[in-house]
Amino acid sequence: MSQTEIPSAAPSPARVDWTEVAPQALYDKCKALASNLWWSWHPEVVSLFRDLDPLRWRQLDHNPIALLAEMTPEQVAERASEMVLYTRINQAQRRLNDYLNNMQTSWGARHAGVLGSKPVAYFSAEFGIHESVPIYSGGLGVLSGDHIKSASGLGIPLVAIGLFYDQGYFRQHLDAQGWQQEEYLDTKIKDLAMEPARDSDDRPITVSIDTLEGQLQAKVWLMRVGRVRLYLLDCDVGGNLPEDRELTSRLYGGDVRTRIRQELVLGVGGVKALRALGIHPGAYHLNEGHSAFAPLEAIREKMEDDGLSFDDALREIAQHTVFTTHTPVPAGHDRFEGALVEEHLGPLRRQLGISYEQLMGLGRVEPQNESESFCMTVIGLKLSRRANAVSSLHGYVSRRMWAHLWPWRAEEEIPIGHITNGVHVPSWLAFPMQLLYDKYLGPDWQQNMGDPEVWQEIYKVDPGELWETHNVLKSRLLDFVRRRVSRQCRKRNEDESAVESARNMLNPNALTIGFARRFATYKRADLLLQNLDAFVELLNDPKRPVQFIFAGKAHPADEPGKKLIQKIANLRHDPLFRGRVVFVEDYEINVGRHLVQGVDVWLNNPRRPLEASGTSGQKVVLNGGLNCSVLDGWWAEAYNGRNGFAIGHGSQHVDTQVSDARDADEVTRVLKEEVIPLFYQRDVDGLPRQWIDRMANSIATLAARFSAHRMVMDYVEQCYLVAAGGQSSDMKMP
Ligand SMILES: *Cc1c(COP(=O)(O)O)cnc(C)c1O
Repeated sequence: MSQTEIPSAAPSPARVDWTEVAPQALYDKCKALASNLWWSWHPEVVSLFRDLDPLRWRQLDHNPIALLAEMTPEQVAERASEMVLYTRINQAQRRLNDYLNNMQTSWGARHAGVLGSKPVAYFSAEFGIHESVPIYSGGLGVLSGDHIKSASGLGIPLVAIGLFYDQGYFRQHLDAQGWQQEEYLDTKIKDLAMEPARDSDDRPITVSIDTLEGQLQAKVWLMRVGRVRLYLLDCDVGGNLPEDRELTSRLYGGDVRTRIRQELVLGVGGVKALRALGIHPGAYHLNEGHSAFAPLEAIREKMEDDGLSFDDALREIAQHTVFTTHTPVPAGHDRFEGALVEEHLGPLRRQLGISYEQLMGLGRVEPQNESESFCMTVIGLKLSRRANAVSSLHGYVSRRMWAHLWPWRAEEEIPIGHITNGVHVPSWLAFPMQLLYDKYLGPDWQQNMGDPEVWQEIYKVDPGELWETHNVLKSRLLDFVRRRVSRQCRKRNEDESAVESARNMLNPNALTIGFARRFATYKRADLLLQNLDAFVELLNDPKRPVQFIFAGKAHPADEPGKKLIQKIANLRHDPLFRGRVVFVEDYEINVGRHLVQGVDVWLNNPRRPLEASGTSGQKVVLNGGLNCSVLDGWWAEAYNGRNGFAIGHGSQHVDTQVSDARDADEVTRVLKEEVIPLFYQRDVDGLPRQWIDRMANSIATLAARFSAHRMVMDYVEQCYLVAAGGQSSDMKMP
């Protein structure tokens, strides 16, 4: 974050001479603040760390632990006295302590009390919490991070289980040809807010998992995310073979055998870790199929503890299990051959007393069909009593996709519901917008941000004030992009004129459109380029200029995705596009935050209905940007005609080529006839009144509905309470 981003929230206290304060005590307080990721969604705490050393803060990926490690207690104390940080540090610490100790006044205490002694165990292969904790790759991880932050905010008894990747996901840069290069950096464990998880005898926990080829071991780390404990399994332990020590090094790296082994550690290892911790979950939430082996280990425990048969234990555990599916794209559903399944689950299968055929049947749509591989989504659906998709449209698509699991049911009775994704408001909201909301929405708005009523007050905001605030954020984004892109040029050893022109590009008055997401081909990053002449015309209109900022990674094995990146990045060599179409490298949470906070328009044009939900556009809403999107994922249920722009009419042709051509025409038309004219239609004060009306309408109608608070409340009411209470529901297992 830039230095100007967050003013100090605290009033200026009297200057404290650091010699009065024991430097070590002050230093320890800072370290205590840094050791709970709660700080990451509190702008006043972020600014406090940044003020210790703004330059190093940026260079260290905004990591307070790494920053403090470079400073002595005396340096911190001296800096604290110069910057009058002392009171802010104390205030932040009091706030954190109040937060941790006041669970009883939370929404969760009132609505989810039953989970108190038997919390939700939330499993996910990735968690995107902050840019300084690189254990996520993209949307799924950011969603998991937002989920646990909102669970923390609402006071839901929930623990999270994931994997610790010491190299995380790759860092992206482009070579001179515009081709994506992948770099894996080692994360220093000592720079993370992480400690070994301990059992009741205070011993560090290690779990072991038997396979037919030997034993796998994983140690367990504890990361504190507000009130939520996140446990991360890590195979880099001495007891493992050298190749197994690297098993959890990289997220979504390696071959299919690495994949099943990671999933074995996450699912089976995760349940074992909970047991070692003395945690007895009331609900298991499997966020995507990666963790769908977990119920098998839970069934084994149930059989052992209660002397149940496999079938009875399965029924019991399924009652407590919630499964969320995240994509209609076939490649997004892990599938494994029988031999790999047997190698890794053979020992557990024998303990469960079931045959190889029975086990394989759990992962097949047709249990007897020997040509069918083992699918993690199928076992997830079969071992959970509650299953959901992540938007209304995705629910419809998923029921159709998995209808053959329930051949006796009509499609609309397929037991896959939906809970639409949402975003953690404090994590994505820019501080200047927060100040605006503080002023207009009332002092308690953050406590009630899942309530749509709260947001109606936005209509009372002075249009000029909303517009000004947005423009501050926009200029901050443009500065950020100029800085990043000139650094990219320098890194490629381009000549000084290229660096210089990057430093001066982008027009603060031009309509600025952002497009950032994974470069999977179905997301069609190049859709506008299909009608190239029309696109060039839009970009080069001297009266109504338009500029685009692109970002996104392609999976390392996705050649077509990398070609798309190259196509867009290389536009900078053409004078018709130079400075108007910009590619920012290494899309991650920090780049994402700047983009969603500063764009005028967020463009999303996937091939319908392949985008299950999407969440980046929801982050844009909070900050006053407008969505311009195909009616897919969350936007299909969000768009009301006045809160953004729609591309197409919510239909698709069976032939993708026909669909693509139609949508290409339509996206060009919407920009040309709707978006650009509205943006440039100004009143005597220079304000685009109707545009600002749309901004307010977008915030008023969407902010609560697409918040992670609303999402987590839905999970509590529709899934967790039923699972933990053991009440029967109308759902039937396949
Ligand atoms: C929000 C976010 C995503 C997910 O957004 P989509 O709309 O699903 O593409 C991915 N990556 C990062 C870094 C994000 O912040």
